[in-house]
Amino acid sequence: PEQDPLPLELQPTTNVSRKAFSVAVTRPDDIQKARLKLPVVADEQKIMEAVHNNNIVVVKGETGSGKTTQVPQFLFESGYGSPDSPTPGMIGVTQPRRVAAVSMAKRVGDELGDHGNKVAYQIRFEGTVGPQTAIKFMTDGVLLREVAQDIALRKYSAIIIDEAHERSVNTDILIGMLSRVVKLREELALEDASIKPLKLIIMSATLDLADFRENKALFSVPPPLLESEGRQHKVITHFARKTHHDYVEEAFRKVSKGHRKLPPGGFLVFLTGQNEITHLSKRLKEAFRSGHTATGPPVRISGKDAPIEAEDIDFGDTGNDNNDDYDDDETHIHINDDDDDDFRVENEEPNTGPAKVHVLPLYSLLPTREQLRVFEPPPDGSRLIVLATNVAETSLTIPGIRYVFDSGRSKERKYDQATGVQSFEVGWISKASARQRAGRAGRTGEGHCYCLYSSAVYERDFEDRAKPEILRMPIEGVVLQLKAMNLQHVKNFPFPTSPDREGLESSEKLLTYLSAISPTGQITPMGSTMSIFPLSPRFARILLVGHLHDCLPYTIALVAGLSAADVFIPENQVIPAVAPREEDALFTNADRIEEDVRNNIRRKFNKVQKDFCFLDDKSDAIKLLQVVGEFAHDPTESWCQSHYVRFKVLKEILQLRRQITDLLRTNIPAFAGLKFEEKLGAPSATQVKALKQMVAAGFIDHVAIRADLSPNPPEVRRKPTRAIDVPYLTLFPSHVRNEDDDKAVYIHPSSPLAHISPQECPEYIVYSYLQRAAPRVDSEKRPKTRMHALTDVTGSQLASLAKGTPLIDY
Ligand code: ADP
Ligand code: MG
Repeated sequence: PEQDPLPLELQPTTNVSRKAFSVAVTRPDDIQKARLKLPVVADEQKIMEAVHNNNIVVVKGETGSGKTTQVPQFLFESGYGSPDSPTPGMIGVTQPRRVAAVSMAKRVGDELGDHGNKVAYQIRFEGTVGPQTAIKFMTDGVLLREVAQDIALRKYSAIIIDEAHERSVNTDILIGMLSRVVKLREELALEDASIKPLKLIIMSATLDLADFRENKALFSVPPPLLESEGRQHKVITHFARKTHHDYVEEAFRKVSKGHRKLPPGGFLVFLTGQNEITHLSKRLKEAFRSGHTATGPPVRISGKDAPIEAEDIDFGDTGNDNNDDYDDDETHIHINDDDDDDFRVENEEPNTGPAKVHVLPLYSLLPTREQLRVFEPPPDGSRLIVLATNVAETSLTIPGIRYVFDSGRSKERKYDQATGVQSFEVGWISKASARQRAGRAGRTGEGHCYCLYSSAVYERDFEDRAKPEILRMPIEGVVLQLKAMNLQHVKNFPFPTSPDREGLESSEKLLTYLSAISPTGQITPMGSTMSIFPLSPRFARILLVGHLHDCLPYTIALVAGLSAADVFIPENQVIPAVAPREEDALFTNADRIEEDVRNNIRRKFNKVQKDFCFLDDKSDAIKLLQVVGEFAHDPTESWCQSHYVRFKVLKEILQLRRQITDLLRTNIPAFAGLKFEEKLGAPSATQVKALKQMVAAGFIDHVAIRADLSPNPPEVRRKPTRAIDVPYLTLFPSHVRNEDDDKAVYIHPSSPLAHISPQECPEYIVYSYLQRAAPRVDSEKRPKTRMHALTDVTGSQLASLAKGTPLIDY
């Protein structure tokens, strides 16, 4: 449990150091006024004194208190980042999310007025950093790569690790690394007067301090903690009387009613993913097109029925909040267990809200420029309604939000490090998250949070806090990065939360298969080269065996495609959902037309999918390569729309192809002359075969063998009539947890392999990961474990890989 903060050990006179060097800043008037109201600004003196006297400081403050926007400016004003100051290096600020890095850089640039060009951002493929840059916002992944290049981070005078409470893997690793980098810089500074110590500031909304400050492996003495008094306005939480299973429908009902009854003020609705957001958005827009009452048909999509897409995952994790801050008046969150349906707001007349709605989506796969629209004021006379995933939970503060509607759910990637099975599940958020979400309503004045769940469910089913991401993800990439930084014994790394031993061991085993480390755990030359690429070790391995048969440009395109989010928009997002009908309702003409529309779309969708399998009909990998190749010939949004693929993702893949090509050229002498070929011709049949084998080289531990052809087919009673029912056995049957689990795994319906006949199903399949659907409450049947298939391979291809000859000479 959280302990009392240790008293700050400040020198009594430290006002001086702050004045030793300062940069004058003239801010726009309105900004200056607004920032004076932020709790963090009131604490500037205290924070800067602590920074001057300590190299590591922890700053904690409620979301919206001004940490992200103000602390970098405090540092800037006292000389950090100014070339002529004693601390000339840049101020680096990390964010777990790209959208936050971009929008916060913009905001801080605006706040600094004429110093605007001093604030820049760097995310994976985009950046505005130049010689002028004093404050650099970046994703935590970007800084992690920079540590790998220069362990002393000489470019920086200060690093701010923001949103530490989210416990993203990269942030956790950074905190571990930086605890050492700070020490290193202290040592270097003793030897060389031109080198200054590095300041590290860890910032968090609601940090579980024990994992950080009191972690002896991390900091021998707990760094000082500065807590900014939250001055959030009162937020009243209204629990629902009943918890509805169909929470999207319930959200529609409540938001519609709320819009009609509540006084002006923005709405922020928390849902779990893009699908739900798109549906609710459509319905709200239809319902309030001309400021009228909602009467549209209900949507049928949510809860256990909601399709869950891998690509639609946002960091589901928020931190740990153990303080009692939220109980009563002192804490500003008030609990109200009455039914909220009347939307009575104290001291205010209902029915005074604006008539029109301005509905905006906010999720991670949305193009950046669309994401930033939430910061613009809504059109006059309309109410801003933001439909968001977890993105809006802590990193972004959307102006004007007064009412929060919380589904209480989030979509999370679950990964079992022991069995390697991954699943995407909609589940209850933690109590800490629920409080964060509610708190979003209290920024500008008193606010209200309408929960779509009862207080009983909250008490009984919500965990106190979510698990750190490092416990929920494959970690071979982390292990390889650490080894590449000469950390031989990864288990000695000062993790804020250590991954389990099993996870570490299986990662090392995998890295051995991939020839990245030796059997004794030492990094190999191959492993060092692999660690240069911003790719998971499997994809890096594929890349580095991928040059035979003139395949390299295809391999680059393929690994770029495989490492990005899912390119394909799933069928259920393309085809409009059917409105449920009363049992005895008549089948109307309108229904018939709707059905026709759906059938047309479905036909077109299927044709497009089939065309993508033109080169090969048994391989997800080759289908993906085809899409990446076609896109390069017509890289437009309209092509993507008509082919049901994601523009944002494909653009990113194109950038990643370019980046990988550059890295190959600059790091591997044999590829010094490599040119980037944006437009690729179709690969030959030989190349397709070779590419499939390369994929297998990266997934050599993920081979599944068709089971119903063996002399003693296990557990197969009937001959499968569909490809998706053909049983396969994995080489390492690690997904089996219980004695009576089905030992077989099956092809996922999204794979091209699902559309061939069972007779044609290949003997060997290489899969990328196994996924088990969440068991359905209303079904007795155990859900099948499915392979997200990559490709078919032949026995001789596998045999040659096992012998260590990378590729067959076709
Ligand atoms: P914290 O990091 O503590 O959560 P921030 O520094 O992000 O807080 O935000 C402080 C305040 O600055 C917010 O409450 C909001 O009022 C204002 N703010 C932040 N970003 C923007 C923006 N893009 N547009 C307008 N106001 C903003
Ligand atoms: Mg912040």
